[in-house]
Amino acid sequence: MKYNIPRGTFDILPQDSYKWQFVMDSFRKIASRFGYEEISTPIFETAELFERSSGESSDVVQKEMYRFTDRKERIFALRPEGTAPVVRSYVENHMDVLSSRTKLYYIGPMFRYDRPQAGRYRQFYQYGIEFIGSDNPYYDAEVIAIEMLWLQELGLKNLRLEINSVGCPTCAADYDAALREFFRPALQDLCPDCVKRFDLKPRRLLDCKVASCKPFRVGAPSQLDYLDAPCTEHFAKVCESLTAMDISYIINPAIVRGLDYYTNTAFEVIYEGLGAQNSLAGGGRYNGLIEQIGGKSIPAIGFAGGFERLLLALEKEQIELGKRICPDAYLICLGEKARVAIYTYLNHLRQKGLYIEYDPDKSSLKAQFKAADTSGASYAIIVGDSELEAKTVNLKNLVTGEQVSLPLDGGEAVYAILHQDH
Ligand SMILES: [Zn+2]
Ligand SMILES: [Zn+2]
Repeated sequence: MKYNIPRGTFDILPQDSYKWQFVMDSFRKIASRFGYEEISTPIFETAELFERSSGESSDVVQKEMYRFTDRKERIFALRPEGTAPVVRSYVENHMDVLSSRTKLYYIGPMFRYDRPQAGRYRQFYQYGIEFIGSDNPYYDAEVIAIEMLWLQELGLKNLRLEINSVGCPTCAADYDAALREFFRPALQDLCPDCVKRFDLKPRRLLDCKVASCKPFRVGAPSQLDYLDAPCTEHFAKVCESLTAMDISYIINPAIVRGLDYYTNTAFEVIYEGLGAQNSLAGGGRYNGLIEQIGGKSIPAIGFAGGFERLLLALEKEQIELGKRICPDAYLICLGEKARVAIYTYLNHLRQKGLYIEYDPDKSSLKAQFKAADTSGASYAIIVGDSELEAKTVNLKNLVTGEQVSLPLDGGEAVYAILHQDH
């Protein structure tokens, strides 16, 4: 029997895992620098959490969610996104009582049953930021600033920030009415999904992926023309704050976001050069979500981004993402007596925090030197029976070829030299 990896998933192999660690660590650092703390939630939740938050009509719930029934007939779903679980935890753990401002970030796998393609998987890894507790437009800009600063610090150029306002439920209703008016004459020519969306969520007609639907949206009314006074002011202040923070942006009224819970600010960060799948991160304000899933009415804003596309973009720009870890030294042992005695010494070196590679199955000097080279170690420590008798070890610098004799002590002498090199 031969087993294959499930379609749309991938292994993170050792030759790549250090890059993932580097990028994840780097995200943790930038989030911490803005006062965000990590939260980890389970990879599955009750399916209803996502149905309630994303909206029954959303593609995520309709077509892409991995739903399953457990042995007690409870219906769960593998999480398709990170915000609803974080908000569930926020409400369940009464975080609003602990503090009026909550800054959370997360990293982890998400799951969507989608057609696999370049940069798009059924299990994919996301990072996200959630700020909960204020409607101040400053926070919209701050959340965007985290993502932009991070991507710039990683070395990415050719980034484009696109922002929009999707309004509040009041002004969204006016806008939906205007959209229905606009699309009504084309109704019989639109795809079946769009016909469904026409009544439920006419804004979704603006981002339908079906080619024959695209021409009909030319000249469609813009949400920005239907914002009420408070939403207009909020959006203007977000723009003003971004400019003051030296973050350039373009306003794109077509950003509607796939999920139901967004209000006011919506944004996307685009990296030019990844083809059709060029969005690195997206997010927005979700002032209604916390109340919608059983909490108080508390405003919030956040975003999420995918690690797969980010790594593709970083690779495209040939940005180095850390290094594979190499041993500090390779221990070469010659002779039977030395072989057992060396275990104590090896143990001492490891207790000092050094990474020492050793292979008891290799006995010849040649085989061990070859293994030392392959391992990428900069030093070899050589101990044979004669060294053992003289209570010494030989330390050879594999780069320069230089060799010194050191005492066979508790590892102090070798540590002193290798530590200098760190
Ligand atoms: Zn409004
Ligand atoms: Zn359509």
